[in-house]
Amino acid sequence: MNLTGELIMPIENLEAGLCPGCQTAQDDKSIDENLKTCPSCGYHYRMEPLERIKYLADPDSFREFSANLSSLNPIDLSGYEEKLSEAKLKSQMRDAVITGTCLIEGKPVILALMSFKFMGGSMGSVVGEKVSRSLLKGAKEKLPVIIYTNSGGARMQEGIFSLMQMAKTSSAAAELDKAGAPFFIVLCDPTTGGVTASFAMLADITIAEPGALIGFAGPRVIEGTIRQGLPEGFQRSEFQMERGFVDIIVKRQDQRKTISHLIDLHKTQFAFASGRKI
Ligand SMILES: [Zn+2]
Repeated sequence: MNLTGELIMPIENLEAGLCPGCQTAQDDKSIDENLKTCPSCGYHYRMEPLERIKYLADPDSFREFSANLSSLNPIDLSGYEEKLSEAKLKSQMRDAVITGTCLIEGKPVILALMSFKFMGGSMGSVVGEKVSRSLLKGAKEKLPVIIYTNSGGARMQEGIFSLMQMAKTSSAAAELDKAGAPFFIVLCDPTTGGVTASFAMLADITIAEPGALIGFAGPRVIEGTIRQGLPEGFQRSEFQMERGFVDIIVKRQDQRKTISHLIDLHKTQFAFASGRKI
């Protein structure tokens, strides 16, 4: 669910084993071997942070930080603690983002990855704090920051505390910019609500996975508000790239080498801004 209570997950007929992209039968093994993409049409299935670290980071280089942060119930909402416990079990994470340092083709970076499985990747105080810490660590240590976003928006269960995270993460992104370290965002399906309206749109380079839903409110809410049909492919990565919200669409198989290349491209400018010798 996103802020507006709309189900934003695309209809995936996974039980029948049919790929939502090409409607052909695909077995789990070949999808997994293909980084959770369809071997026939390249449809990108959703992926969790721990699986992403395996293909992005150099082997055994990921070191998690701020791992022990866990949400409290700041507005005493009944049932929130139970929801958090369920989400922890389901996602095997303590909250909807994992943050750490790692190497990508030998280059040190800070990597933050969101999980849609944890309460729809919603941003509460812990997600906001961990994202901000990642950006500030990047500023302090002059390291590139890469964030994979996957979110239905703000975490309604934390009320105003979740909305405050938008300003907090945005000001942390400004600190990274001042320090001259590069910031790359990878928008994954879906990225909506308060995450889109804050740090997800503030990177130096905005990358998107193919076919990802990227927007603020979901298409059905917009359709209901304006009482008009929406164009084909509305709010998908390709649509958003045509309109300037996305710089490049990179399929999963190419993300590691593309990010590595982008870090190299930014090196001269980065070194100049941070007064570092290259
Ligand atoms: Zn397919």
